[in-house]
Amino acid sequence: MFVLLFGPPGSGKGTQALALAERLGVPHVATGDIFRKHLREGTELGRRVRAYMDRGALVPDLVTCDLVGSRLSEPDAARGVLFDGFPRSVPQLYWLIGHLGASARTLAAVVNLQVPDDAILARITGRRTCTNCGATYHTVSAPPLPDGSCSRCGAAVVQRKDDVEDVVRDRLVAYGAQTFPCLAELRDRLPVHDLSGEGGIDEVQRRIFASLAL
Ligand code: AMP
Repeated sequence: MFVLLFGPPGSGKGTQALALAERLGVPHVATGDIFRKHLREGTELGRRVRAYMDRGALVPDLVTCDLVGSRLSEPDAARGVLFDGFPRSVPQLYWLIGHLGASARTLAAVVNLQVPDDAILARITGRRTCTNCGATYHTVSAPPLPDGSCSRCGAAVVQRKDDVEDVVRDRLVAYGAQTFPCLAELRDRLPVHDLSGEGGIDEVQRRIFASLAL
């Protein structure tokens, strides 16, 4: 089962994706998380994508699709995955349809989390991320330890370069310009579950599970 989770940056899709992937029993494939791991590890790919990510632009489609292609060739992805943040452009969608079609696997469902821009800005500019394990915090609603370290692994918790207001605005522009058309294209092919991403984590999770009859 291949399920796609859409939502603008800061819609809470990363958090929701973890619970949803567990419920579906498929791996969670978040392209943003994979790119960030490469940045942390200073790999060749990390060096190629850093400038795009730092300014809130999409990484080129070829680079992104290559990365997803190799992830999908791993054995645990054979029965399906939950995509979080992929596809994010029309070319990526066509690549995915071609890739899954070739191996006779199909898209099962699409969930689209919707959150207004002002709520997104409040959420993201307060977001802090662990430099080691990637755990996320919020200055007001879920702060890290008092000394600014991660309660999971003890490493430093910082603001992502792309979580500052100007860059968040650019990420929202990229979402509207590239990801909206991708969603529109998907709507012609299968039902898209448009859900509000506002409210508590559990509340949004219930909405998602109910829409997929889980
Ligand atoms: P995210 O954590 O999903 O908000 O992604 C953070 C950044 O990673 C984005 O602003 C892009 O620079 C890059 N990125 C993640 N997923 C994709 C994708 N499917 N296509 C292109 N760039 C991506």
